[in-house]
Order: sequence, then structure tokens, then C-alpha cells
Amino acid sequence: MKRLKKIALGILVLLVILGIAATIIVPEKLDKKFNTVTLHPPYSVSAKAQQLYNSLNFIADMHCDALLWKRNLLQKNEQGSVDIPRMLEAKVALQAFTIVTKAPKNMNFDNNTGDTDQITLPFILQRRPINSWFNLTNRALAQCKALHAFEEKSAGTFRIIKSSAGLRQYISDKQKNPNMTAGFLGIEGMHALSGKIENVDKLYDAGVRMMAPVHFFDNKLGGSAHGVSKGGLTDFGKQVIKKMQEKNMIVDIAHSSPKLIDDIFEISTKPVVSSHTGVQGTCQTVRNLSDKHLKMIAKSGGLISIAMFKPATCDSTVASSVKAIKYCIDLVGADYVALGSDFDGAIEIHTDITGLPLYVEEMLKVGISEEDIKKVMGENVKRFMLKNLPPK
Ligand SMILES: [Zn+2]
Repeated sequence: MKRLKKIALGILVLLVILGIAATIIVPEKLDKKFNTVTLHPPYSVSAKAQQLYNSLNFIADMHCDALLWKRNLLQKNEQGSVDIPRMLEAKVALQAFTIVTKAPKNMNFDNNTGDTDQITLPFILQRRPINSWFNLTNRALAQCKALHAFEEKSAGTFRIIKSSAGLRQYISDKQKNPNMTAGFLGIEGMHALSGKIENVDKLYDAGVRMMAPVHFFDNKLGGSAHGVSKGGLTDFGKQVIKKMQEKNMIVDIAHSSPKLIDDIFEISTKPVVSSHTGVQGTCQTVRNLSDKHLKMIAKSGGLISIAMFKPATCDSTVASSVKAIKYCIDLVGADYVALGSDFDGAIEIHTDITGLPLYVEEMLKVGISEEDIKKVMGENVKRFMLKNLPPK
């Protein structure tokens, strides 16, 4: 008996050690495996492009999933594309931190259900708060909290923007001290509400200012471009959009089915954005926007934020994203076009965040004017946010 007990105890100790080792090793391994870049830093561009890049006052990006990976954003990391030191290095003024709360297994572009979830296990291994392991709202709140913790520990170099007054203050402070950067919180997939409209308030109070109704599967709000039904907005979805816009939260149509996009525009009273997209005009896939929807975004006064990875642009090159940018400028004018990389979105991205000068170089190459380049690189986001964030 004694021997058996000893063996059992030995196995238990071994399991605990293995468990602890897994929480240290696996999250970083997953981050490295899923978030890769085609071109590795350091990046170099022509003197002219670098000069123009250095002259930009406000560089912004509308989408990145860095919070999913429990990376220490206060230090420069080898893996992934975004952290605060690299945002400072790239002179980025504003980065959207968009929260993912659920991702089906065997995710594809055409047909996913919400029956499975591959985020639960990584969340446990990342030693996130226990209440966030199986509850999607808490999972979103844990990521909001994580970004606030980085803000607190950043000694004033990183700020979370929640209002137009806050953004105005930050812009003025940054003029005195350029060594500052900022982010704002978004969510992709409002299954993060756990089906309860009152959770809109909870997420707003946690700092979230932009939300996309759906991600890779249909939910209580409506149909995903990658779901089963490809349906429109449900009654619940309509209530949520109305409530969001009353609170000056930005509606993001990324990943929405075409029918869902039509329904959103039908009831929307505010400008609408796509935080990360490609365009059908240069790359025909179900995740990309049609000319009709690009025009509707522009008409609403919103933003078309162009993504930087092959499945959105049909090629693994900076040029393919710039082709989409140019296409949008030609279609709707430069005032509605922005960057929406999808950094750290479990994809191979063209470059990490320090590669943004390559976009300026490519835009010069295809004949986009310096004035329009400034708009696309961030001035449009600045103008949009000053106008559309909650005033205070
Ligand atoms: Zn996405």
C-alpha cells in the first residue's frame, strides 16, 4: 500500500510540474507559431519614403489582436507584431486593440459553427483569471484589464483613449513629449455579450469603444460571412446596434455577412467602419467588401481599414495591400481609407508594426499623393475618432 501511495504521489507531483511547465512554455510557443511575418525586421526604405514617414503626425492602425496572446506588451518581443516599444519605434500614435473571445476549431472562410472553441485551453494555460476560462464576457473583460495594467505600468508612455476629449488631450501632450503612444479597445464578435444587452454597458465601462457584431460564426446578433446562415441582423442585433450608437460606440462590420451589412446600414444612424478588410475589387473572397458596401461606408462618413495579410489581399506583399488602398481611393476618395493590419491575428502578416514605412514607399510608388498618404496612414483615423468617440 505504502509503495502504491508513493507512486501515486510521484505521479501527482510530476503532473503538477508538467502543468506548470505547460503554462510557461505553451503560450509563447503558440504565439510564435500563429503570429508570423513574411518580411522580417529591420526594414529599410528609400530616403524619400522615410522622410515622409518621419513627417507624419498621426499614424494609426484599426485592428490588432495582441491581447489574445498574453504577451508582455511593455517589452520588445521577438514574437508577434505589436508591443509598446515597437509602437514607439514605428511612431504609431493610435493602435486598436481588438479582443477575440471565441474561435471555432478548424476555422475556415466559408462555413463555421460556434459549437467548438479553441481559445479555452490557451486561456487556461496562459493562467488568465478563472472566471474568464468559460465565460466570454469575462474573457473580454480580462483582456480589457490586461491593457489597463500595461497602461498603468508604462510610466506614461502608453495611454488608452476612450473619448474625443481624451484623444485631444493626448494629441496635445504628445506634441510636447513625442515618446508616447496610445491604443483603444475593440471587440470582434459580440458573442462577448453572452447574449445579454446589459453587457454592452459592462464592456463600455471597461473601455471598449468599437465592436463588430460577429466574428467567424453566427451568433445571437446575426450572420457571419464565415458562418452557416449568412443571415442578417436579428431583433437582438438591432437592439444592440441601437444601444451602441446611443453610447457613441463604433460599429465595425468586419466579418459580417453581406446581408448583415445591409441590415446594419438600414438602421444605422452613425458612421460605420470596417476595422480590417480587403476589397472584392482586388481580391475576391467572402471576407472582403463589395464596391457597394465600400461606397456605403464612405457615404456614412466611416472608415475602410485595409488589412495586411494574404487571405485579405490575395498576396503576401505590401504591394497587395497598397493595391487595395489605391482601389478604395479611386472608388470613394482618400478621406475614408485607413490601415487595419490585423497584426497578431493568428496569421502570417506582411511585416510587423515597424514595417509601416514600407507602405508609404509603396504608396509613393503607385502614385498616391503625399497628402492622401498622410490621410491613409492615420489622419483619417484621427479625424474620425475626434468626431465619433464619446465626447467625454
Ligand atoms: Zn478578424
